[in-house]
Amino acid sequence: MSKPTLATVWLDGCSGCHMSFLDIDERLLELAQKADLLYSPLVDRKDFPDHVDITLVEGAVSSTDDLAKIRKVRAHTKILVSLGDCAVTSNVPSMRNPFGVDAVMRRGYVENVTEARPIPCSVIPTLLDRARPVHELVSVDVFVPGCPPSADLIYEVLGDLIAGKPVVSGSRGRFGG
Ligand code: SF4
Repeated sequence: MSKPTLATVWLDGCSGCHMSFLDIDERLLELAQKADLLYSPLVDRKDFPDHVDITLVEGAVSSTDDLAKIRKVRAHTKILVSLGDCAVTSNVPSMRNPFGVDAVMRRGYVENVTEARPIPCSVIPTLLDRARPVHELVSVDVFVPGCPPSADLIYEVLGDLIAGKPVVSGSRGRFGG
């Protein structure tokens, strides 16, 4: 029987949730025996696969690129996991929300620099009007809060999902959607 497949996706986050995933340490070898990691910032594959059983998503949805990516990921994923507070609540990225995009761009590219540059209008993905949690844009199956969630929690959730066990609502900081 083929192994379940995994992916991890990085939207608007600091990579801390991925660092916590790596903090699973030697238990990653155990997970690798049970599941295949197909797509991740940690592997050199550029396109999201046609089908993934379990995808962990770090970060809020903050730009047009994030939105296109999460829609594609959702369409090709069986179990979508919001990993960490930025994905679950929009957390740190949402600190810009009260100010509006124009003020944030002005602050970043004009007011808060020693040498002002034009505000970029290409190459850099266009910001959405506000950073939003993943479940506001696509359906989410499992929420794993924490900033970041602990390695033990990620290991436990992944182990259960790979084994096909139900994820219990409110159990030790994780809950099903
Ligand atoms: Fe970073 Fe915390 Fe957001 Fe994870 S939840 S991406 S650790 S700020």
